[in-house]
Amino acid sequence: MAGKRRSWLRHVRPDLVIDAVGHLTAADVRRLAPRVAALCFDIDGTVTDYHSPAVTDAQASHLGGLREAGYQTFVVSNCYGERAREVHALFEPHVTAVFTPEDCVDPADPKHHPRKHGKPAPDMIFAAARTAGVGPDELLMVGDQMFKDVLAARRAGARALLVPRLGPSDHAGVRYLQRPVERVLRPLLGLPGGRGAWPRSLARAS
Ligand SMILES: [Mg+2]
Repeated sequence: MAGKRRSWLRHVRPDLVIDAVGHLTAADVRRLAPRVAALCFDIDGTVTDYHSPAVTDAQASHLGGLREAGYQTFVVSNCYGERAREVHALFEPHVTAVFTPEDCVDPADPKHHPRKHGKPAPDMIFAAARTAGVGPDELLMVGDQMFKDVLAARRAGARALLVPRLGPSDHAGVRYLQRPVERVLRPLLGLPGGRGAWPRSLARAS
């Protein structure tokens, strides 16, 4: 039973944790994940508050700094329609490339639908790896959701960095269905519990 439980839980267990994306440094990534060549960022609740209409100077400068330090940087965001267009416009100036589920749709296939390509599907991470010219195992997926960001990274064979949700807002379905399960699972996985328990600099998940 314990073995079965461990094998299931490893799909949502991150490799690394930190209390905020803004505290992530290139030096720490090099030290704790030396094979990583590219960084994939979830946006809502990770880089910005949920559905933020703007990127602050500090957020833009932080993403720019990681790129200048030698990392290819990608946005990998589950957003659709108008928000997908907004995320492209907001982040394209600051990262190597932006991927939303619509960018993975094959226009030649009439049955393809964007929702099939959203996390936890690994498709956007594979697209980032192809663009970066590296293997998925050289990517670090950074996000605030165990059942979207971490699971997508695991399915892609990428590394995963979990952060606590940034800002007060959340998708209603995530808030009421997924966050309570995350709260139960975090102690089972040895992950930080309350806000104050997350490390201020990059750390291995214990
Ligand atoms: Mg998110």
